[in-house]
Amino acid sequence: MGDTRVWAVIAYVRLSDEDREKPEDEKSRSVDNQIKYLEMYIETMKARGERISGHAVIYDDGKTGTDTNRTGFQEVMELLREKKYNCLLVSDLSRGFRNISDQTYYLEEYFPLHDIRFISTTLQYVDSYLLPGSALNLGVKIQGITNEQFAYDTSVKIRSKFDLKRKLGEFIGAFAPYGYAKKLDNSDVLVVDPEAAGIVRDIFSWYADGLMSLSAIVKKLNTFGIPNPTKYKNQKGLNLKNPAGNDGLWSASSVRRILTNEVYLGRMVQGREEVINYKVHKSRKVPREDWFVVEGTHEAIIDPKTFDKAQQLLSMNVRAGANGGIHPLAGIVKCGECKKAMSRKSSKGHAYYCCRTRREKGKQFCKSHSVREKVLYAAVLEAVNIQVWQLGDMRALTQRVQNAPGKPADTRDFGYRITISEKQLENETAVFDKSYYDFARGVISEAQFKRIRGICERRQAELENLIETLRQETKITGVKPAAFDAFQKGRRFTELTRGLAFDLIETVYVYEDMSLEICFRFADPSIPS
Ligand SMILES: [Zn+2]
Repeated sequence: MGDTRVWAVIAYVRLSDEDREKPEDEKSRSVDNQIKYLEMYIETMKARGERISGHAVIYDDGKTGTDTNRTGFQEVMELLREKKYNCLLVSDLSRGFRNISDQTYYLEEYFPLHDIRFISTTLQYVDSYLLPGSALNLGVKIQGITNEQFAYDTSVKIRSKFDLKRKLGEFIGAFAPYGYAKKLDNSDVLVVDPEAAGIVRDIFSWYADGLMSLSAIVKKLNTFGIPNPTKYKNQKGLNLKNPAGNDGLWSASSVRRILTNEVYLGRMVQGREEVINYKVHKSRKVPREDWFVVEGTHEAIIDPKTFDKAQQLLSMNVRAGANGGIHPLAGIVKCGECKKAMSRKSSKGHAYYCCRTRREKGKQFCKSHSVREKVLYAAVLEAVNIQVWQLGDMRALTQRVQNAPGKPADTRDFGYRITISEKQLENETAVFDKSYYDFARGVISEAQFKRIRGICERRQAELENLIETLRQETKITGVKPAAFDAFQKGRRFTELTRGLAFDLIETVYVYEDMSLEICFRFADPSIPS
C-alpha cells in the first residue's frame, strides 16, 4: 500500500464486567486471550504491509471500565502524550471507553489533535487512519451509548435490590456492627453478642457518667487487653482477609464510632454513605433524611437516655485533664459578658477559666477576665447544695441521680471478665500439667517441655496481671457512687462529679465582677418540686 508511516502500537486490554465474575484462572485466561488476539491483529497489520516499529501490551484487571482513572489506561495516555507510541489498539470500544463523553472526547478531539491512530477491531470497527471518519460514524456513538447504558443498568439493579432490604431494616453489611452478630439462620438479622455487648455497655456508662474522657477510656480498654473491634472480628474467625495491618488497639475514633452508633438503640441505620455514581467509585456522606432508618429491628444494648447523654457530652467536645478525667465544669462554664464558652488554662500549678474572645477576636469584643477553677468549683458546689436544700422534697432529684447511667453494672461486668480470665489461667495450668506428664513419660523431649513451660509461664503472668488490674478496677468502681451516698446521708454533695454537674447544671456564667449566674436544669418541668 506504499505507506511510509511507522506505528508504535499499544495494545490495551481490560476485563469486562462478565469476566470479573469469573474465577481467577478464567480471568487470566480471558486477559491472555485478549492479548493473543490483539497480537495476532498486529501480525495481520504487518502482513498487509504496514510498518510496525514495536508494540506494548498494557492491561487493567478488576477495575470497572467506567472509571477513567484506571491505572493501566492512565499509563496508556501517558505514553501517548509522550509520543512514545502513536497507535492505540483495542479489541472493542467498551474495552477502551465506558462512557460516551470520554469516548467522544478521545475519538473526536484528543486523538485527531495529537495525531494518534485508534483501532477498535470489533463491535464497531474503527481505524482512524485507514478509515478516516470511522471514529465519527453514528454506529460508534450508538455503541458508546449502549456500553454506558449497560454499566448504568447494572449499577441501578444492584442498588435497588439493596435499597429494598434497607427499607425493610434487613442488615446488608458484610460484618455485624461490634456488639452484635449475624443470626445463624438469617444473616439479615442482628443478635446480641454478649461478650462485645458488655464492652459497648462499659464504654457508654464510663463516658455518659461523665467520669472519663475518650482518651481515658481508650487507655483503660487497652490496659485490660480488650481487643479492638477489628482484632475481635479476626479472633472470631471473621474478616480473615485483613489479619495484619491493624495493631488491635483501641483509639479515640474507634470509641467515638461506638458512642455515636444508633444501632445500639435497636435501630437499623443504613445508607449513611453512597457511591457517587456508576462512573465515580468514591463514597460520600448522605444527608440524614435520606438514610434508611428502621426502629426495633433487633435488641437494644443501650437505653435512649444514656445514648442521648453521651451525644450531648460529645457535642460539648470537652478536653480531658492530665489525669485523663474530665474537669467537672468543662463545657458548662461560659463568659457572662459575651456568652461564649470559657477555656480552661493551667498556669503555675493553678487552673483558670478565661474568656478567649478578647485575646482572639479583639479588645473591643469582651472584657479581660478569668477565674480560678478551684474558686469556681467551690462556689458552684455550694450553690448546688443551697439550691438542692431549697428544693425541699428531694425525691425527684434522688431518682434522677439514681437513674444516671454507669453504676452497678460495671462491677458485675468486671466480675464476669475476672471469671473468664481465671478460666484461662486454669487452662494454662492444665496445659502445663499435661506437658509435664508427657515429658515424664518420655512423649516429649526436655527441650519441648521447656519451651511449653516458658510459654505457659508467660501467659500465666499476663493473666495474673490482668486479673489483678480488673480486681483493682472493681474496687474503684465500687466506690464510685460515693458522692451520691454522701448526698443521701448529709443531704448535701461533698463533691461535684462531671456527671452530677451535667445532670444539675445547664450553664455557669462568669461575669467581669466575678459574680456567677448558674442556670440549673431543675427548672425542667418534668421534675416536680
Ligand atoms: Zn467574654
